[in-house]
Amino acid sequence: MTPVTTFAGKRVAVFGLGGSGIVTARALLAGGALVAAWDDQEASRAAAREAGVPVVDLAQSDFKGFVALVLSPGVPLTHPEPHWTVAKAHAAGLEVIGDIELFCRQRAANVPLAPFVAITGTNGKSTSTALIAHLLKVAGREVALGGNIGTAILDLAPPSLDRVHVIECSSYQIDLSPSLHPTIGVMLNLTPDHLDRHGDMAHYGAVKERLVAAADTAIVGVDDAWCAAMADRREASKKTLVRVSVDYVPETGIYRDGTEIVWICLGERRGVADFSGIATLRGVHNAQNAAAAIAAVSALGVSDEMIRQGLASFPGLAHRLEVVGHIGRALVINDTKATNADATGKALASFPDGVFWIAGGRPKEGGIASLAPFFERIEKAYLIGEAAEDFAATLEGQVAYSVCGTLEKALGMAVIDAQTSKAIEPVIVLSPACASFDQFKNFEVRGEYFRSLASAFLGFVPFAKG
Ligand code: ADP
Repeated sequence: MTPVTTFAGKRVAVFGLGGSGIVTARALLAGGALVAAWDDQEASRAAAREAGVPVVDLAQSDFKGFVALVLSPGVPLTHPEPHWTVAKAHAAGLEVIGDIELFCRQRAANVPLAPFVAITGTNGKSTSTALIAHLLKVAGREVALGGNIGTAILDLAPPSLDRVHVIECSSYQIDLSPSLHPTIGVMLNLTPDHLDRHGDMAHYGAVKERLVAAADTAIVGVDDAWCAAMADRREASKKTLVRVSVDYVPETGIYRDGTEIVWICLGERRGVADFSGIATLRGVHNAQNAAAAIAAVSALGVSDEMIRQGLASFPGLAHRLEVVGHIGRALVINDTKATNADATGKALASFPDGVFWIAGGRPKEGGIASLAPFFERIEKAYLIGEAAEDFAATLEGQVAYSVCGTLEKALGMAVIDAQTSKAIEPVIVLSPACASFDQFKNFEVRGEYFRSLASAFLGFVPFAKG
């Protein structure tokens, strides 16, 4: 844990007692703050009490007695409208901050030069964060990995010159961290998302930009117009910038050339790594993640040789183009995290042909019409859940499909069909382009169920066709 001593002796209100909220309250208490914590849910309040956190009804409290409101990132700060605790805090003149801000102040007060890598972007945050941590570990560095991915930041060991904090930051967390000044800030990409919580793209982008604007070294993916403009602004500020592209060759920066990641400086190029054989980094989107991760660890002094070793041994993350194994001739991939058509597009783009695609669930706006450019790669689609009929209508006349209803039936049919594919390596991929809630608790449960169903088949040769 990182005890937060910067509020010692002061009264602090904490709202939102999910996993990170309780950790935050405990870190404040450990540093000597006087905490009053609250949550709308009785179950969360009970968990907090059990963890030794003083629970106080903030609706009944006079906020003038507090110096700050520490808010969980899941609670609306600005849109659709400020949460009642935020309105109360503003009326009382309190600052409203989050757990990453508490970490930043602790670092600034005690070890301002402790290495701190912060990663954001609309897509690829978790993959890039995990890859940066992995590359650093392979190079023998001590790493504290957390934030929006897994462990809450204040549950990690304290900032130290000998330890690199590698922290995934959501836009909500950045919004609650006015003094976020990482050693290295990574901004991967920006596409419309979470606009209900940020109002519009301009506000969403401005929040995310703060992470790189305040970094000592900024690493910015420049393949979308929003991020390209952020890179231009950074360059104009004369602070260190690395441009990352998978679409074109920047004048200076790091980019993808086929399956290679290449540094370029004013026309001089230097290849760092070839990721063609690396199953956990399939697809152009992962080239963006890999290039950004390479730039980040290079800035921390990791050698190209260590980077190559680290890329080759990267285990990947569960549920994102995760290799489950082979069933007969077919490679089985769990991409349950692809809950919208955009994410599924990345999966379909990663396999040139012979795709046996399992899709469906609770539909998202826009359906799968945007995936038409990939339809010729699909040998057959297996449709499940509430979206099945809609998806069938989109595929009609273009892609063979079966409406299967359930994941069991879809996988069973795909396993048999894939054995007779003409492709060199047919691929059965669960990449639903839908939320999971019609049939599963969440996308992880859907992926685990798929993995367990597929595992029952592994090593089994369904139809040894000649
Ligand atoms: P996040 O943590 O930002 O949600 P993940 O690393 O968990 O991102 O990846 C989630 C999904 O987003 C992946 O399954 C893939 O479909 C897509 N994705 C990953 N990296 C990128 C990227 N760099 N650009 C676009 N899409 C990506």
